[in-house]
Amino acid sequence: MEKGKRLYEGKAKILFETNDPDLLIQRFKDDATAFDGIKKGTIIGKGIANNTISAYLFELLAKDGIKSHFEKKLSDIEMVIKNVEIIPVEVVIRNVSTGSLCKRYGIKEGIAFKKPIVEFYYKDDALHDPLMNEDHIFGLEIAGTEEIAEMRQQALKINEILQRFFNSIDVTLIDLKLEFGRFKGKVLLADEISPDTCRFWEKGTNRKLDKDRFRHDLGDVEKTYKEMMKRIVGD
Ligand code: UDP
Repeated sequence: MEKGKRLYEGKAKILFETNDPDLLIQRFKDDATAFDGIKKGTIIGKGIANNTISAYLFELLAKDGIKSHFEKKLSDIEMVIKNVEIIPVEVVIRNVSTGSLCKRYGIKEGIAFKKPIVEFYYKDDALHDPLMNEDHIFGLEIAGTEEIAEMRQQALKINEILQRFFNSIDVTLIDLKLEFGRFKGKVLLADEISPDTCRFWEKGTNRKLDKDRFRHDLGDVEKTYKEMMKRIVGD
């Protein structure tokens, strides 16, 4: 497979074409942004960690029947993915309260919900990713009824599988953000699953093991990405 031209560059990743129209190469960058791009920085080794962690988790999920855009790992910082049409909706699943939810509803951090909360956000930087419900997604013709149901159902299943896995490495999966894409009539899990897109707290200590260390200047940012990579894939 040959790498073609750069198709798209986002805040944390670059997509390249390949000589196969069905496949792209996804490269993970060390660049980090937070608060709608206001805070910018570099986390050395983040590209390696997020590529390694995402590849591992996509494979883990595949074993439990979750179909994703992941094809194979290509290098330390690159993976081959299916050329999906991204549905512009961020699906957030919350197991424990933190982040924007606490601000919006005025509740304290660390409340474990009796069942996961599923939220949808419209993926639009200029609009600051507004929260939306399933009627908005259908009404605005962003996705069809079956696609919406599929995203919700898959997101909850993914959360369950990942909760089980993270529990086994003494980490609580606090919340996570998923994206889905269309490929040959199917809805596939896409994007990445990493400390950039999930929140992880160490069991017992509640030490934060994710991008919140960068967002809130908690220190040990690079060390934490490396630590999560080691915890997840093993030494
Ligand atoms: N998240 C993400 N990309 C976004 C917004 C959120 O990956 O553009 C993830 C974030 O890492 C967390 C979850 O989605 O795991 C919920 O984030 P929240 O709404 O609390 O956002 P924040 O506190 O970052 O504003």
